[in-house]
Amino acid sequence: MVTSVWNKPGTIANAFWERGWDFEAPETAPLPVYDMHGHMGSHNAIYFARCDAPEMVKHLKRSGIRRLVFSHHHALWGEFRNAQVRDICSQFPDVLRFYVAINPHRPQYIEEDLKLYDSFKPYVVGLKILAGYHKVVVTDKRYEKAMEFAAERKLPVLFHTWNGCPFNGLDPMTQLCKRYPTVTFFIGHSFSNWQAAKKLADQTENTYFELTSLPGQYGMIEHLVQEVGSKRIIFGTDMPWFDEFQHIGGILSAEISDEAKKDILCGNIERLLGKDW
Ligand SMILES: [Zn+2]
Repeated sequence: MVTSVWNKPGTIANAFWERGWDFEAPETAPLPVYDMHGHMGSHNAIYFARCDAPEMVKHLKRSGIRRLVFSHHHALWGEFRNAQVRDICSQFPDVLRFYVAINPHRPQYIEEDLKLYDSFKPYVVGLKILAGYHKVVVTDKRYEKAMEFAAERKLPVLFHTWNGCPFNGLDPMTQLCKRYPTVTFFIGHSFSNWQAAKKLADQTENTYFELTSLPGQYGMIEHLVQEVGSKRIIFGTDMPWFDEFQHIGGILSAEISDEAKKDILCGNIERLLGKDW
């Protein structure tokens, strides 16, 4: 009989399954998991059973996740403002952090929110750009203020990326990553294509490849680790679109080393942001 990785003593999978991140006794946890790609709030395209902060935080704690960094759906598309997102985070300071949602169709909001950026601390982590949905290519002038702001402050910016997409596919993303070398680019979904991820990784140093939606694709994690290296990969789930358990399970049971799993779930982010953020 084959023993599953969850039952092999001494592995990260076994330790995480047994203990996870325990908010009451963090010193006993095998490692913190940082989910760097989440959302919040309802969405017209899908029914979410849990998409508001109290239920989401409950689920995050149950799954053993130390932090979720999210952008609010209604700030990405609606009238909801990033200052309100900050207030939500302040009610769950041990779990929630956020990206300032940048909507290129609302230049006024971008300007106002960047001015408020310092007042969003300590809950704000960077910016979120969702070009494929806003249908404005990432190199467009309408993002310039936000990108210059991020470049000046050396902030991370999470992008939704997808191979072949004219708004945030490989070509415009490559141009942008080269144009702003001081920005830390979080490449959301890693283009959903490890060959495209490799092409960008080979040409840039300021890029980290994020795993939302990928653990369900057979062999994807293994390919990415082999091609871009575990030091360039970060964990994310798109919660509430996808489930924490499925994504963590996908990483912990992938055919990669325990060291690589650690890089992905926490090591790379702690190198970028520190341990206390
Ligand atoms: Zn997303």
